[in-house]
Amino acid sequence: MKINYDLVAQKEMERLKQEGKRPTLALHVCCAPCSSYSLLMLTNTFDVTVIYTNSNIYPQDEFNKRAKEAERFIELFNKEHNQNVNFILAPYEHDAFMEELKPYKDEIEGGARCVLCYKKRLIEAFEFAKVHNIEYVTTTLTISPHKNSEIINKIGETLEKQYYPIRYFYSDFKKRNGNLIAKRFKEKYNLYQQNYCGCEYSIRDEK
Ligand code: SF4
Repeated sequence: MKINYDLVAQKEMERLKQEGKRPTLALHVCCAPCSSYSLLMLTNTFDVTVIYTNSNIYPQDEFNKRAKEAERFIELFNKEHNQNVNFILAPYEHDAFMEELKPYKDEIEGGARCVLCYKKRLIEAFEFAKVHNIEYVTTTLTISPHKNSEIINKIGETLEKQYYPIRYFYSDFKKRNGNLIAKRFKEKYNLYQQNYCGCEYSIRDEK
């Protein structure tokens, strides 16, 4: 039976609220527009630290552009919503990151290469949480209409077991009009939005 991950997320937030808790959460962010709705939802319940770890992006100028825009958005978001979200920029190590993905270069977007790419970035977020004693980890990747939330959440479920006691926060940010709200943020703040997923193979596939 298909799991409704949005419902799982809402129940978890409700439970934390009832227990009067406000845990820390490391949010893996892929780009500014995708982070907008996710932050709006998560900051109701969590103290959020954004971890921008995306060495999949090619070329480096594009990585820099997306990272800068994510940071700019968070500053604006904090001001407008009276929040204190931190922004952490992980180093750009594209060649090392892509080494494991190369055997899958001919896969279509959403296939085995992408599954590995999601997993590597989520591992980086869990590692960050481990070092900084952060209680939860999640990712904005589930907001993308091009990405399978079930696959991403299953990866999170596996990593939660490996990184116990860090919890994975299940999500399906595209639900509850997540994309529409993200689009409004994008227009309001004139946020840059890329026209390809990230790696050199995704540029090729967009042509
Ligand atoms: S298409 Fe996107 S998700 Fe897939 S491997 Fe490339 S950057 Fe990663």
